[in-house]
Amino acid sequence: MIRLIRLSKKYHKNEPFALQDLSVDIDQGEFVYLIGKSGSGKSTLLKHLYGQVKPDQGHVVIDSFVVSQLKANELFKLRRQVGVVFQDYNLLQYKTVYDNVAYVLEVTNTDEKVIESKVMQALKTVGLSQRALDYPGNCSGGEQQRIAIARAIVHEPKILIADEPTGNLDPRTSLSMLRLLHKINKSGTTVIMSTHDYSFVEHMPARVIQLSEGKVKSDRSKNHTLLILNNTMGEYYVV
Ligand code: ADP
Repeated sequence: MIRLIRLSKKYHKNEPFALQDLSVDIDQGEFVYLIGKSGSGKSTLLKHLYGQVKPDQGHVVIDSFVVSQLKANELFKLRRQVGVVFQDYNLLQYKTVYDNVAYVLEVTNTDEKVIESKVMQALKTVGLSQRALDYPGNCSGGEQQRIAIARAIVHEPKILIADEPTGNLDPRTSLSMLRLLHKINKSGTTVIMSTHDYSFVEHMPARVIQLSEGKVKSDRSKNHTLLILNNTMGEYYVV
């Protein structure tokens, strides 16, 4: 369970709010699209979830963690529960695909055999078992993003955060990435994905939280989204 409680954040005093009095609850196992124009606060919201930024006001609660109160040396506890994928894949070019995924577990002193089985399972999930010994530089953009997703899920987090994960990908590759994120969600992982591309919602409907100027402009459940997509009911009638 994720609870964002009356979050407000400004990066600089004299600038507008990046987030303003924003409250949202997300249940374990949900798939959430976070949409909104550039600058609407999507990345800032996601950064609060993995403790990259702290709110000026309000609280971020993930299960038993009050993220906003964790000290820097406690953040690792939270990050065991959360995997993160970015638009630019942030892979280590001098390491193999396998090692890019494995090092997440190596820093936690996990047994080598366990690491091997978890890494191969994560690579299987993203469809890259055959590329384990290759280098990221020999992989396409879509494959590199799959490596990044494998790295984000190898420690079996409860929550996967994807910040514009398809921003650098062509439409076809983007859709296959979307299908992969939904597949990961089916296994019980909460997935929160920011995008400014609404066509994803049409392809694979789910809950949609729309931000505007750091506030929640709308928050529609999957069923509500489906109703709107099917044009069976005007938004006007849905409370
Ligand atoms: P989005 O992800 O929707 O594009 P962001 O969360 O990146 O939105 O940005 C929200 C607002 O906060 C914007 O006005 C942006 O300029 C500002 N902002 C984001 N990151 C920083 C930062 N590191 N320093 C200063 N301002 C920032």
